[in-house]
Amino acid sequence: MTTPLEARRIVVLSPHLDDAVFSVGASIARAVREGTDILVVTAFAGVPGSANESGSWDRSVGFAHEGEAAVARRREDAVASGILGAVPVWLPFREEQYGEEATDDAIWAAIAPHLSGADAILVPGFPLDHADHRRLARMTLSRVDVRTRLGLYVEQPYATWADGPPRAGVLSQWVDEDVAWRPVPALGRDRRRKWRACLAYRSQLRRMLRDSPNLPWRVGRYERRAGGESVAWTSSRTVHR
Ligand SMILES: [Zn+2]
Repeated sequence: MTTPLEARRIVVLSPHLDDAVFSVGASIARAVREGTDILVVTAFAGVPGSANESGSWDRSVGFAHEGEAAVARRREDAVASGILGAVPVWLPFREEQYGEEATDDAIWAAIAPHLSGADAILVPGFPLDHADHRRLARMTLSRVDVRTRLGLYVEQPYATWADGPPRAGVLSQWVDEDVAWRPVPALGRDRRRKWRACLAYRSQLRRMLRDSPNLPWRVGRYERRAGGESVAWTSSRTVHR
């Protein structure tokens, strides 16, 4: 099997502004270095024009209004994407903290045009503890063309709190139980570029480090043990409807 990361164009689906970079930033850096176009599509990138009061998470990191949080967090994502050489796309859907009312059909209609011409798609795969992450993964697995190369990525930092190694779990309706997560080869400079990009998410890191000061160490240890960032590549054999 050829490595799908050597494709010409890959779309990484990110639930929120930071998930893709925290989870597969080094893989993105490596792919870009090797000439692949990487589009990072963030589904729940918020509503910049909103004057609504901020949701619980956004309030906890110091934003008073929904729009203020969306603008600041998109700006952070633009900086991180620039460091990695990826192109960011932000869709105006709300995170769970705001009780997004858009249907899956409406969200998918906004995602689908960005997938055209993609040689591979990456989507969150494990542990899918967050409702928005599960929603995006389920939506993609149930709707994407079965011939598309689909990679399920291990989500950071969530995986460091998960019990045991990655598994199909809530995706077992679509993916064989024996689908295998494998480390994505990356060089030291790809990993360093990832960490530089992660630092761009200042508002998020402030809160994460307050809750869990040793978080970067935990993620680093997880990835060292796994041999790197992990992706399970599915094929039409392993994905069923
Ligand atoms: Zn997230």
